[in-house]
Amino acid sequence: MIRINQLKLPVEHTEEALWAKAAKALKIPVKEIRSIQIIKQSVDARKKEEIHFTYCIDVETAKEESVIHKVKSGDIGISEKKEYVFPKPGTETMASRPVIIGAGPAGLFCGLMLARHGYRPLLLERGESVEKRSEAVDLFWKGGTLRPDCNVQFGEGGAGTFSDGKLNTLVKDPLMRNRKVLELFVEFGADPSILYVNKPHIGTDVLSGIVSGMRKEIINLGGEVRFNSRVTDFIVKDGRFKGVMVEEKEEIPAEILVLAIGHSARDTFEVLNERGIPMEAKAFAVGLRIQHPQESINRSQYGTGNHPILGPADYKLTHQCTNGRGVYTFCMCPGGYVVNASSEDNRLAVNGMSYHKRDGVNANSALIVTVTPEDFGGTTPLAGIAYQRRLEEAAFLSNNGKIPVQLYGDFKKNQPSKAFGDVEPAFKGLYDFTNIREFLPAYLSESLIQGVEAFERRIRGFSRPDAILAGVESRTSSPVRIPRDESFECSMKGIYPCGEGAGYAGGITSAAIDGLKVAEAIASRFDRFSI
Ligand code: FAD
Repeated sequence: MIRINQLKLPVEHTEEALWAKAAKALKIPVKEIRSIQIIKQSVDARKKEEIHFTYCIDVETAKEESVIHKVKSGDIGISEKKEYVFPKPGTETMASRPVIIGAGPAGLFCGLMLARHGYRPLLLERGESVEKRSEAVDLFWKGGTLRPDCNVQFGEGGAGTFSDGKLNTLVKDPLMRNRKVLELFVEFGADPSILYVNKPHIGTDVLSGIVSGMRKEIINLGGEVRFNSRVTDFIVKDGRFKGVMVEEKEEIPAEILVLAIGHSARDTFEVLNERGIPMEAKAFAVGLRIQHPQESINRSQYGTGNHPILGPADYKLTHQCTNGRGVYTFCMCPGGYVVNASSEDNRLAVNGMSYHKRDGVNANSALIVTVTPEDFGGTTPLAGIAYQRRLEEAAFLSNNGKIPVQLYGDFKKNQPSKAFGDVEPAFKGLYDFTNIREFLPAYLSESLIQGVEAFERRIRGFSRPDAILAGVESRTSSPVRIPRDESFECSMKGIYPCGEGAGYAGGITSAAIDGLKVAEAIASRFDRFSI
């Protein structure tokens, strides 16, 4: 195949136009092209009057060598086809099947790969199956009681199940794990375009079906997935890992444990700390969610309120504050909702989600400020968790458990809001007005205001007084890191920290990639589990 980079076409182009452009670039008639595969499609909207797609494509022709010889361009060359390869089984014997804690992207992708290669893993998940979990979350959003083991953070599919399902990652993996993860998403029901669009996304509705499909395959291949199975302790004898305790009553012997518990398993981090698993506090970011009309974001990014081909626009903004802190937008959800994403009683956290169509009226995104161990007010590895908890408790108390909401203009004036302006609220969960500044540390409020004012220069209307703020956005990434060595184990042999909770990922795709890495590490060392 011949790879062509930087092929530009207007966004409303036809399939024929792509073939014609490719033929022109290669200086051959269109009829000599046998097939075209899109490798990457990105939108270039720098000039609003000239928005176009930029493609990287692979073209199949009969005479590749002679065509390449004729066209002299840095953007054209022979495509190197690389494929993901799972390692051959190792030689060490497994006395018991591998146990994976957590059925989020890290645990599920690790489990699927191990199951497909004959290791019959056991997945332990504290929450419910994705189907029952969706019902529990819906009830909670309508005013029901929070279930501490089954909520937006916990349950099959992990933290990203009620999300926008953005799949882009900054991870560049030369071993093609990123591609493999996207291929697996497609295999289980995602639209094939996620393989080439620059910013792929799935949406919460599609993601749920994918998750249950993966679980069914793990079970069909001899693995096991147990819900309502919270790991409450780790059995350690003579300094060696020997197994786990489930729901304080069932002991499961194990010699290989994948710890894919996500960033919100605070109780589990506490037990790991007590059992002597080394971990360290790490920097993360906290702040609020901000909502604007999607139409105004579209206008700013594409020059029109509703682009018929490109759909709802996104944005990504950063600013360095005068106090030295970075403020940035994160996890932007076009056409989405701000959701109550709490997982602990009497504590409140928000996040964002959208459906596949992204057809909600608002754009929302996390507006967050970097915080480091110096801010946490303690030196233990769990000091960041204590910091998050203090913020979430204050948010909960400020509004009797309802999401604290304030218009940006009132946030600036340090006064509670009384009514919404022209921006319609789009929430999942109960909400009410309050003065968020009363519970947010001053350095965060000041940084957020500086950020919003700076972002106005990039997106007109970003600082509109009726933009809706909601808090607190405290679960942006893990507050701890569990160090692991080149064999992917932590200092307690047999335990493989994995995914976002252990500090090795920051999003759905990177967590899934880390799941693959850990599965590879286990498989290349051990022979298949055959008992
Ligand atoms: P998790 O997904 O957190 O999974 C950990 C699992 O472990 C959970 O299911 C939990 O129940 C289970 N568990 C924890 N402790 C125990 C225990 N003791 N015993 C048994 N089970 C346990 N990322 C993106 O890339 N794109 C997005 O659009 C996006 N949107 C998001 C929206 C929301 C509302 C949230 C909350 C997160 C979003 N994220 C998004 C972040 C993304 O979800 C995480 O980065 C990702 O899920 C991390 O994967 P993980 O497998 O490492 O951990």
